[in-house]
Amino acid sequence: MSEKIKNYIYPLLIWSLFEIMAISLWLTKDSLFYLLNFSYIGIAIALGIFLFAKKYRYARRVVQLLVGTYMLVYLGLICRENMQIEGFWYYLFLGVFEAAVIHYAVAKIFGPLIFGRGWCGYACWTAMVLDFLPFKNPENPGRKIGWIRYIMFVLSFIFVLTLFLFQIKNLEMIMFRAFIISNALYYTIGIILAFAFKDNRAFCKYICPVTVLLKPMSYFALIKIRCDEDKCISCGICKKVCSMEVDVTDNSRKRTKGTDCILCLECVKDCPVGAIYL
Ligand code: SF4
Ligand code: SF4
Ligand code: SF4
Repeated sequence: MSEKIKNYIYPLLIWSLFEIMAISLWLTKDSLFYLLNFSYIGIAIALGIFLFAKKYRYARRVVQLLVGTYMLVYLGLICRENMQIEGFWYYLFLGVFEAAVIHYAVAKIFGPLIFGRGWCGYACWTAMVLDFLPFKNPENPGRKIGWIRYIMFVLSFIFVLTLFLFQIKNLEMIMFRAFIISNALYYTIGIILAFAFKDNRAFCKYICPVTVLLKPMSYFALIKIRCDEDKCISCGICKKVCSMEVDVTDNSRKRTKGTDCILCLECVKDCPVGAIYL
């Protein structure tokens, strides 16, 4: 297939997949919101793939900003949907298969079986801000404090459980405030950690409760970065440019930090012999 055709085929394929999801949810849930929501996200991602194929350096950042700001500002602040982990528990307790539950099912639970942690590389509004910080490549990687994520995960569950156990009133308002407060906290902790550890993605590696779901699911991801061992000259550049400390030269599922790969494609761009591919 010629390069020119490939530039259009892949974005069209991804856009079509999102369109299928958009139309299916629109018809099954009888809500135009799903058609518009997933169409918009599909177009943003397809545009990013097209720009990447055209070798535009900031292709990923374009997608991140388009999807991240949409989710934070429109869905979170204007529509008042709590898309954080506590929102997921909240809707589960309500027994409602809507908003945050669909978002989690698609982006963070079942989706990662196909596209791994693509969410973290292209859509997360927390990382969208953290990626602007100056520490793209961690100076002191491999800290052993990843257990904090489990505490955060359990705390978020206990918070929502308490609201239901004590039959607290005005739950919608509380969940909206929780969304604002948790986002403010995530940004503050994320920025402080990034500067303390000289690592933009320190929050993702050690604190983010969503990784409790993302990491095990992405272990089985269909789409993953691979290395052509015949081409590799062991220069180590891929490791240096990887913000998530992944050993991409090992093709096994057990590769070091394999479940941390956010599919940012920095290693693909920088490998001097073109040994890395999707
Ligand atoms: S690990 Fe958490 S904060 Fe980081 S990109 Fe993924 S979901 Fe966002
Ligand atoms: S950057 Fe490319 S050549 Fe260098 S170690 Fe990584 S895969 Fe091998
Ligand atoms: S640099 Fe490569 S291995 Fe590292 S997170 Fe990005 S895509 Fe994954």
